[in-house]
Amino acid sequence: MSANAKVAAAKAATTRAAAGKKPVTTTGRCQCRAIEYQFTGEPKWVMHCHCESCRRAVSSAVATYVGVRLEQFSYLQGEPTVYESSPGVKRYFCANCGSPMAYAGARWPGEVHLFHGTLADPGQWPPTGHAHVAEQVRWFEINDHLPRYAATAGKGAKPVRKGPKR
Ligand SMILES: [Zn+2]
Ligand SMILES: [Zn+2]
Repeated sequence: MSANAKVAAAKAATTRAAAGKKPVTTTGRCQCRAIEYQFTGEPKWVMHCHCESCRRAVSSAVATYVGVRLEQFSYLQGEPTVYESSPGVKRYFCANCGSPMAYAGARWPGEVHLFHGTLADPGQWPPTGHAHVAEQVRWFEINDHLPRYAATAGKGAKPVRKGPKR
């Protein structure tokens, strides 16, 4: 086999491997395991949200979300209870153990935003940015170099800065 033919053969093998590669499956659950879910493939985005509504929903300084498309997502066990925190905003939680599970908003049709803390492996899908830092708690800062958005990160929004406040 010539050098060129070898390169071509290696390329074809790589292409076959990529095509045959199964999409990654991510699983998650509530604390008591009454509710388990999975999604296939990569999330659309992974973000920290500092808005007051999310803060109250998780009773913590920040809420971290894994945004996936509904067609990627399914429940393996149980179904959460839903609370409408504002018109068009649904917040899902386990009625048994109280774990916040997910967010779905009319502004984000076809998506479900899972709480990062429900992932089976918390090391999976690290966050890529911070939303609603205009509402960020004053004593709370994360020392990463990710972009910070005053409000949402979507629809051509420009970050107000990258990295923590100085
Ligand atoms: Zn539970
Ligand atoms: Zn929020």
